Amino acid sequence: MNQPSPVAAIIERCQALFDDLDFTAVKQWKAAAPDRKAIGYMPIYVPRELIHAAGALPLGIFGGGDQLEVIHGDAYYQSYICRIPRSTIELGLTGRLNCLDGMLFPSICDVIRNLSGMWQILFKDKYVRYFDVPQNYEDAIGGRFYVHELEVLRDDLGRLRGTPISDAELNASIRVYNANRSAVRALYAYRSEKPWQAPTAEVYLVLRAGMVLPPEEHTELVHAYIAAADAIARPKRDNARVVMTGAFCEQPPLSLIKSIEMAGCYVVDDDFLLVTRWLQNDVPDIGRPLDELAKAFLHHSVSTAARYDAKREDKGVFLLKQVKTRGAEGVIFAAPSFCDPALLERPMLQDVLGKHQVPYTAFKYAENTGQMAPIREQAGTFADSIKLWSAA
Ligand code: SF4
Repeated sequence: MNQPSPVAAIIERCQALFDDLDFTAVKQWKAAAPDRKAIGYMPIYVPRELIHAAGALPLGIFGGGDQLEVIHGDAYYQSYICRIPRSTIELGLTGRLNCLDGMLFPSICDVIRNLSGMWQILFKDKYVRYFDVPQNYEDAIGGRFYVHELEVLRDDLGRLRGTPISDAELNASIRVYNANRSAVRALYAYRSEKPWQAPTAEVYLVLRAGMVLPPEEHTELVHAYIAAADAIARPKRDNARVVMTGAFCEQPPLSLIKSIEMAGCYVVDDDFLLVTRWLQNDVPDIGRPLDELAKAFLHHSVSTAARYDAKREDKGVFLLKQVKTRGAEGVIFAAPSFCDPALLERPMLQDVLGKHQVPYTAFKYAENTGQMAPIREQAGTFADSIKLWSAA
């Protein structure tokens, strides 16, 4: 039997991790040494450095995708909200998250906030924390508040381990995540430069593996993928270069990402799995780690609907930067149905794009969206219109 190519082997592994809603890899990691712990986190951003510094495995929980039948979860939420909280409840109630010792719910919307309360009631033996982030970006106000939040989390995780987390441990973890962020930046730069060599469906799976694997292993995987992808020649198509935005929390089904590419679009930037790129620069790894993490959050985090913008003129700056720096020809707004943060932000972003003559199209999805034909037709028509327009 022929061996799969290095790219195929990497993607096969990532796909297996993606498909495994029982999180076998996490169970294996825990079983490999005594007293290992795993802490789950919801989208969009948590400082994974703190979990890592406590010797625990950070596990990204991104709902149940399109493979999980939600039976119990629907009873906990009204029908007119997004799907990720229901499928996350379903994962919890069916015992699939029993491997977790705790769960972090970052501040993004009321749905996630409510989910954190439900989690406290449903899973009383687990550590649960609603992790708040600042909405003021001055070091003396928002920074002070955030450092306090980080201190509480650091103390909690230290207690869970049995020994406090030292500054040296935290700085070592910051180094680990700086390396991971640097690898992910390289992956995004590579895809933007040669999108035909690194299809977004593959890039997504590689990124998604980082939600399950220890960061050191994921960093190696990302570099191995870039090298393997660059070693083979793939056909270059006359696709439209687009930025996908709005998918920062509940994730689109993989088949949707594939459909957009098959319809004639190269996705050259996106906001999937933002936790991997939330902090845009390296965080200084000497000195006072909580202060440095806070400064990085305040002054170097990506600006999307998931982050509070204090000024109206800040809206759309990040998206426009994505468009310009990646040489994108258009934007696809793809947001989960009923996602307040993404859908409330959209008109303001469209306004900015309109002023800069950047074409866009928009649709909604759910993580279990089944019918891809309309999305494919819409994305295909959008790509055609860009190509015809730019050829004029
Ligand atoms: S998809 Fe949107 S509305 Fe739903 S939990 Fe996430 S951020 Fe909140």
